[in-house]
Amino acid sequence: MDDDLRKAIRGIALQNASEHEGKTRNETVISKILGARPDLRSKTKEIIPIISEVVTEINRLSVAEQKSELESNFPELLVTKPKQERVGLPPLEGAENGKVVTRFPPEPNGYPHIGHAKAAIIDEEYAKMYNGKLILRFDDTNPENERLEYYAAIKVGLDWLGVKYDRVKNTSDDMELIHKKGIQMIESNHAYVCTCNQETISNNRREMKPCKCRSGNLDQNTKRWHDMFEKYNPGEAIVRFRGNMESDNTVMRDPALFRIIEGSHPLLMEKYRVWPNYDFAVAIEDSIDGVTHAFRTKEYELRNELYYAILDRLEMRKPKMFEFSRLEFEGMPVSKRVLKPLVEEGQVSGYDDPRLPTLEAMRRRGIVPEAIRKFVLSLGFTKSDTLAPFDTLESFNRKIIDGISIRLFMVTEPVKLVVKNSNVTSVELANHPQKDIGKRRVEVDGVFYVSGNDVKDLQVGDQLRLIELYNVKITKIGSDIETEYSGNDFKTELPKIQWITQKDSTKINILIPKTLFVNEKFNENSLETIQAFTEKHYLELNEGAEIQFIRFGYCRKDSAIQAIYTHK
Ligand code: ATP
Ligand code: MG
Repeated sequence: MDDDLRKAIRGIALQNASEHEGKTRNETVISKILGARPDLRSKTKEIIPIISEVVTEINRLSVAEQKSELESNFPELLVTKPKQERVGLPPLEGAENGKVVTRFPPEPNGYPHIGHAKAAIIDEEYAKMYNGKLILRFDDTNPENERLEYYAAIKVGLDWLGVKYDRVKNTSDDMELIHKKGIQMIESNHAYVCTCNQETISNNRREMKPCKCRSGNLDQNTKRWHDMFEKYNPGEAIVRFRGNMESDNTVMRDPALFRIIEGSHPLLMEKYRVWPNYDFAVAIEDSIDGVTHAFRTKEYELRNELYYAILDRLEMRKPKMFEFSRLEFEGMPVSKRVLKPLVEEGQVSGYDDPRLPTLEAMRRRGIVPEAIRKFVLSLGFTKSDTLAPFDTLESFNRKIIDGISIRLFMVTEPVKLVVKNSNVTSVELANHPQKDIGKRRVEVDGVFYVSGNDVKDLQVGDQLRLIELYNVKITKIGSDIETEYSGNDFKTELPKIQWITQKDSTKINILIPKTLFVNEKFNENSLETIQAFTEKHYLELNEGAEIQFIRFGYCRKDSAIQAIYTHK
């Protein structure tokens, strides 16, 4: 008892010292241990001298010695602090309290990923900051790409993230209006219908040359516009903005505003065949939706000129547009364009494959929404193109899940270890070293599994400690390891290893996601599966439970036979 208590104190003192440049204090350790062990409150007198001894010992150690002891003897107490604390978003130019309207405009052409989370969280945070409103707008004007499934997946993702919007709409709800604005552009001569083929159009744009259609008169344009609804085939005619074919900004060289698409739209079926391009739809929608501040990723920056020019020609209200950098991780592309083929060609198991940056995958691997929000806010609102550090996301996550993660033993490459001469028949294990999240009792009969790697270098005569149980001395090494009970004193110098009793073991697979792309190429070894034995208590946990496998790392229970590695 005294040894275990001393050990618990030592752990807390080391942890506290590691957070305070190598120094800990009696008072802090006392309050922490009493917080974690209410049963000791009546014994304060007895424990104070032990604490003060331990604190003196710890303070005498170097930071490096403290670190190494903490790592080898109290890995469960190792909670590294996120490097960046919440930075928050800068004030918004021209924002008035109560009047800010932002929007998150995903195209329902894929599953939401952490880049969408970044955009949606920024939109929501700014709306909240100014007591404004957030609109979720499905930007669904490309019937070939949209699917009902994706509208739903995006909503599910936002719900999970805890992003609350005040209104939801579809760009396709406004098709009549968008067509009206199209005619208006043609009638005011700010747009024309071009029947050149795609290649000619591209060449002309590159060479800054106008085509014949550009000088067509109003009659020709109105007739062609009507023909787009009935006669032309897809690709035979497009509406083009009358920009400037010699502009330095290539976007402004008479870009397309409408094209013919015959695919069936998930909501409108075959009702329309003339569909607006992104630039036209977004400008009109932002304007009529009352958006005051619109955000998008930096690669759209050159399109701002067109956005404002369209609203200018239509004499419509202009929101303010701002850009932020795309969220990308090293080796983990955050883009539907890249993710979709991986799923469709079966290189990953689905949108919830734990290697992916989709929200479903994040959830499944044990990243919690609050961590994503903190992470996004810590990145701030910048245009700089640095790759985001995934381990910063992990540290935010670790801090949040640590307190709710049940500590379990788990062994890999199991080796049987038999203990003789012990009369211990059961042990009560705390589910968490500090938090009160219950206890479990494990029967012990002397037959254990330990991890192969932990015992591979041991020799007869060596001693080791089975964590939370007792010490054993090795008497024989064969295919099994034979040992005998060698006391229960906590000795710092003994290797401490986790164990499972043979009777109380259950087999699981642990999936370990690795970097998805190495040197821009799909990494065939991006998902490692290891086989492990854990305690049967695992089976009683709910699916989705967060676990810290002692001396291994945090995992999320995926099923009775599978867990997914979250992070260290
Ligand atoms: P993708 O390459 O994933 O198809 P997208 O920009 O076409 O990207 P949309 O559904 O149109 O995807 O995006 C909705 C919103 O989310 C936009 O405002 C877009 O700028 C933003 N967004 C998309 N990907 C990212 C990302 N990786 N980082 C930050 N914001 C993103
Ligand atoms: Mg898009």
